[in-house]
Amino acid sequence: MKTLNDFNFKDKKALIRVDFNVPLDEQFQVTDNTRISAAKPTITKILEDGGSCILMSHLGRPTGAQDEFSLKHIKNTVEEIIGVKIIFAADCVGEEAQRLADDLEPGQILLLENLRFYKEEEAGNKDFAEKLSKLGDIYVNDAFGTAHRAHASTAVIADFFPDNKCFGYLLEQEIKSIKKVMEDGEKPVLAVLGGAKVSSKITIIENILDKVDHLIIGGGMTFTFVKAQGGNIGDSICEDDKLELALEILKKARAKNVKVHLPVDVVAADGFSNDANTQIVKVAHIPDGWQGLDAGPQSIQNFHDVVQQCKTILWNGPLGVFEMENFAKGTIELGNAIAEATKNGAFSLVGGGDSVAAVKQFGFEDKVSYVSTGGGAMLESLEGKTLPGIAAILA
Ligand code: AMP
Repeated sequence: MKTLNDFNFKDKKALIRVDFNVPLDEQFQVTDNTRISAAKPTITKILEDGGSCILMSHLGRPTGAQDEFSLKHIKNTVEEIIGVKIIFAADCVGEEAQRLADDLEPGQILLLENLRFYKEEEAGNKDFAEKLSKLGDIYVNDAFGTAHRAHASTAVIADFFPDNKCFGYLLEQEIKSIKKVMEDGEKPVLAVLGGAKVSSKITIIENILDKVDHLIIGGGMTFTFVKAQGGNIGDSICEDDKLELALEILKKARAKNVKVHLPVDVVAADGFSNDANTQIVKVAHIPDGWQGLDAGPQSIQNFHDVVQQCKTILWNGPLGVFEMENFAKGTIELGNAIAEATKNGAFSLVGGGDSVAAVKQFGFEDKVSYVSTGGGAMLESLEGKTLPGIAAILA
């Protein structure tokens, strides 16, 4: 696996695929610069070697060259975070971009315009990838957020750098974190899977049963499993077409000696609202007209105890409707438990969509071992898929 440290960038132009797909407000100000900060170590290393950086990214989902999706809006933020003046190319390919790249001096950074202004990017067009490839000497992929896409700048381009391609520090760290859980995690290994639906997590569950000793299933998924086993779930969210599958998963888990932990009690509400009336009930005895929206106190205690036993922990998906204050406790307490285990030496990885949002919202970011920067890319990794952006560097 070739990484940044395998290269000396002195007098070299690094063409770096970053993920600067950051949220902007109505004034086009960056509202969350996590992804830009995450690329800083890679950029700094290259500049310190005496090289220069050509940064390429997409932003949003433009159709053609739409000003609101221009990367010029984020130029100042990149400058502030990296601490180096940025040269901006108003197109990502073409004469102007090529000239700016050719004139780039060691220590300088060139930021290219949005790659997705060209439909060729998402189509994985070879000619477009070749044009991009002419801009730099060494291709660096540091965009985990798009590593699951076989786009021109994330995968196809790597063919034009047979010997001069590598992972950036961020992507390297993401790969190592996933490996630490999925391949060489210290036992016991625990996966906590929450979120709304079983259907969106089936492939992950099936893949993960071979890797873990304990599986906590929480959130809205719970009720499909509980109903499948004959429980009364009242008006809780449930996928009736997945009942058989839920039983099958439980059977497979038993066969593989994986201990499955479901909530035993829940906070039930008489409506899907923060102001609804609530009561704590057994998970298999939820009255009609009530729905389970969070893990109950006994479940929180049980999950805490499981988490403390484990040395490797993966967390994907909230344990309740954490967006509503009254149903956030299960998710917060799970975060506390994982933070405690991490402090005691466990490795913890949080990845994929809403659990990352929850971890940030409740301030657990620095209390877990690693928070992934990729939503879809993380989920596909957990499903056991090889990501095209990673495969292209390894090829
Ligand atoms: P996912 O994107 O699959 O990880 O699902 C995350 C969503 O699941 C969040 O928006 C939560 O509000 C929702 N969720 C978690 N627990 C429940 C529940 N018991 N009932 C309904 N939705 C839930």
